[in-house]
This record gives sequence, C-alpha cells and structure tokens, in this order.
Amino acid sequence: MNDRFGRTITYLRLSLTERCTLKCAYCRAQDGDCPKKSELTLDEFLRITRAFAQIGVKKVRLTGGEPMLRRDLLQIISGIRAIPQIQEITMTTNGQHLPGMSPALRAAGLDRLNISVDSLKPEKFAKITGGGSLNLVLTGIEEAFAAGFPLVKLNVVLLRGVNDDETDDFIALTRDRNIQVRFIEYMPLGETDRAESRVTGAELLQKHPELVEIAPSYKGQPARDYQMPGYVGKVGLIDPMSHRFCADCNRVRVMSDGMLRPCLGYNQEFSLKEALDQEDDGALIAALQIAIVQKPQTHCFTEEFSAQKTMSRIGG
Ligand code: SAM
Repeated sequence: MNDRFGRTITYLRLSLTERCTLKCAYCRAQDGDCPKKSELTLDEFLRITRAFAQIGVKKVRLTGGEPMLRRDLLQIISGIRAIPQIQEITMTTNGQHLPGMSPALRAAGLDRLNISVDSLKPEKFAKITGGGSLNLVLTGIEEAFAAGFPLVKLNVVLLRGVNDDETDDFIALTRDRNIQVRFIEYMPLGETDRAESRVTGAELLQKHPELVEIAPSYKGQPARDYQMPGYVGKVGLIDPMSHRFCADCNRVRVMSDGMLRPCLGYNQEFSLKEALDQEDDGALIAALQIAIVQKPQTHCFTEEFSAQKTMSRIGG
C-alpha cells in the first residue's frame, strides 16, 4: 500500500517488548515501561503481521526493548515465517541472550541478525550499556555464523569522546568475514539530548577516506554502504540527522503497547487495540490503512523535538 506521498510500505518493525536487559543511556528511560502483562500477545502480533501482509508488507524486523526477553520469541518467528507474503524476517538484539540460541532462531525461520555493540573494550561496553557483557556479544556473533547466518550486521551508535576512537577496530572486523558494521548517528530519542556528542557520517568519512562507496543492496535502504578495498564485509552509515532518507522510507512500527507509529521521528501514533478486539480482520486492516495514509513526509528530529517515547519503547 502507498502512503499519500507515494511511498510503498513494505517493511514492518515489531517492538516485541519494552523490557530490556541493558540500560544504554542514549536509548532507555529508567521507568515508564509497558508492563509485561500489557504487551501484545503472540496471537495479536501474528494477527497484526498477517493484516500487514495483506496490504503489501514483505519484510519484518523484531526489535524492542530486547526481543530475546520474549519467551514466545521462537513461536513469533515461526508464526511469521508461515505467512506466505513475508519474504524476510530479521531481528535486532543486544546479544546478551544470544549464546546457545542461534540454531533455534535459524530453525524457526530468522533470516538475519543485527547485534548492537557500541564498544569492543569490555569495560567500556559495560559502562555504556549499564552492565552488559561484551563476551556474550562476541560469542553470539561466532555462534550466529556457525549456525548458518550468512551475514551479521553490527549496530554502533557513535558518541563523541565515548567510542569514536574505536572506528578503526570496528572497520577491521569487516576484513575477513561477511560482517556489516553500521555506524548510526545518535537520534534525540534517549533520556538526555546529546546533540553535542553526535558523530556525523561526514565526519566518519573524513576520518576514513579509504572507504569506497558501493551500490545499495536494495532501493530505499537507510544505510549508505562503503567498503575497505579488498575487505569481505561492509561499512554502513546510517545518518538520519545529517542525511535524511525519508523520501524512500518504506517502514512503519508497531509497539508492544498496541500502538502503530508511522514514523520513528514523529510522536503521532494510532492505537490498534479497538480493532484487535473485533473478531473480523476488516477493522484491523482499515486501522492500518488510516495510519499509513497519515505517515508524515519527513521525521521532525530538530533541536526542539521532544520525544514522548524513548528508542527502547519504539524499537529502534
Ligand atoms: N535491544 C535491542 C538492541 O540493543 O539491539 C533492540 C532495540 S535497540 C532500541 C535497537 C537499536 O537502536 C540499537 O542498535 C541501538 O543502539 C539503537 N538506538 C537506541 N537509541 C538510539 C538513539 N538515541 N539514537 C540512535 N540509535 C539508537
């Protein structure tokens, strides 16, 4: 289905829970989480995804909060896998629960993993994440390849004076393996405004002039792709603040509290709860269509933007 600006919506991001194991300061508020008992159920997430599939969605990303905290995660994945129109299922995780799980995730039907890792130094990693273990992430990456995931994407939010001294080390990870490191500009959706600590994509390219731009893998991808000559993997720049990609945006988000958010950088949301109470899917599909039509033309991340939800609630 097209929105009113002619963008075709094919990509649904499901925030399975607001709960998270970690407390990355740029992402997560201390309180205000949707309690577990109020989260959409397995059946509700599947019903919503089936309804989206009927109006053109082909790709689903599972995120959160930490999606791996959902006990029914494997059922959610296999349930989505059974929807014929869905061609790709991916998940973004902090990697803390990944060790031991990759074979089951793969068997359930997950196609790809994005793992968030903001530092390759154990102590710094723990500090940024409020106690996370880098070792679990590194083990998770190894196991993901061993389980047959062909590609692993690593999400790195670059913060000035915090982890911007590690870009060489991150890029080196792409030398021999099909790893894509994605440097993400900080967006104003955390607890505090950190505009001064944002490292832009342009700054990164200035620091690494050896990076060669390569063609995007698909139309509308948010990352601009680069590669070190001779390296196997890639480096992606996701710079929504300095380099808007709204004109090609093909995605909408549904959060664990039953709200549909047409744009990450816009507070407008639509409740699906009433439509979910009806047995017939007609009301649900109509609710999705109403929200998609009203997807804003661009995000409104400016210095004045005041996010009503943190990234951990919306789902990155
Ligand atoms: N818990 C999972 C994880 O850590 O990957 C999934 C949810 S997390 C909200 C998804 C992604 O959003 C992570 O890669 C995280 O680094 C990124 N993120 C969170 N807050 C952000 C912000 N304010 N600006 C840019 N990216 C952010």
